[in-house]
Amino acid sequence: MPTILINQADRSMKSFSKIAALALTLLAAAVSAQPVVVYSARNEQLIKPLFDLYTQQTGVPVQFITGSEGPLLARLRAEGKSTPADVLLTVDAGNLWQAANEGLLRPVQSPALQANVPAHLRDPDGAWFGLSVRARVIVYNTAHVKPQQLSTYEALAQPQWHGRLCLRTSKKVYNQSLVAMLIAEHGEPATQTIVQGWVGNLATPVFADDTKAIEAVAAGQCDVTLVNTYYFGRLKAAKPDLPVAIFWPNQSSINAKSGVHVNVSGAGVTSHAKNPQGGQKLIEWLASDKAQSLFADSNLEYPVNPRVPPAPAVAAWGNFKQNALNVKEAGARQAQAVKLMDRAGYR
Ligand code: FE
Repeated sequence: MPTILINQADRSMKSFSKIAALALTLLAAAVSAQPVVVYSARNEQLIKPLFDLYTQQTGVPVQFITGSEGPLLARLRAEGKSTPADVLLTVDAGNLWQAANEGLLRPVQSPALQANVPAHLRDPDGAWFGLSVRARVIVYNTAHVKPQQLSTYEALAQPQWHGRLCLRTSKKVYNQSLVAMLIAEHGEPATQTIVQGWVGNLATPVFADDTKAIEAVAAGQCDVTLVNTYYFGRLKAAKPDLPVAIFWPNQSSINAKSGVHVNVSGAGVTSHAKNPQGGQKLIEWLASDKAQSLFADSNLEYPVNPRVPPAPAVAAWGNFKQNALNVKEAGARQAQAVKLMDRAGYR
């Protein structure tokens, strides 16, 4: 009997200390868990599952609002010092560069981010970090084009593509970034010749979005177009029989830095963050091995973190060499690109 009594006492002491330890942990979490506030241009259905997981793993609540890139940036600008935002999460290096250039983001020194985000996919001063890679590629009609006929973005300006090219509008930042990167690589006069060549080869007026451009290729209105791979992935998932395929451009160029035009979605800590450490930790977590698949796969994009493979459906499109120029050039040369496209008659 006494043995049993001792055991019971011992057991209740043990469970008491367990409960006490748990209570202390929760208390500590409640005290230290200042929420992180995110302004996000990625939509709720893409980011909410990630933020929920972050809260589950760390006890830190994430509050967020979503909106389009332009209005979010305008809001951050207008709120100035009184902004509640700790983190800006947006798409396109052009937009990230713009935010940094206006002083809306603060430089962050983070060994974890430097290790997990390749140098060409982040701001050299640490104001923003790419979190997923989007590749802008050639999509072609498989009945009308052999992949051997394709080579580079530049070659689509050649006469053999006359009346065979479809493009999305130059008003979209994706095309502005592509042209900005071409300017960084070739200079303005050569890039203008390329863009004029594209315009001269157009089979149809420009399209409002990437999906419509791929559909036009599939329908035979044109043979080739330039789009982001996730639009191709979404359309193929819905209509697997469409006669279209991806071609990876600029893979064997003389310029060692040349390759597929890539862009990023990414994030930075805001200049007037009330919880900058919390913001930095969230971004570090988003670039970590455990979060990268979720972040990239939800939109059929590529992880930035080189240790994390893309989703199987994305990996099935094959491997490619990325353009190694820093994506900040997309922002730094954007105004130049817009003017050049206008001069070249690209609407
Ligand atoms: Fe998009």
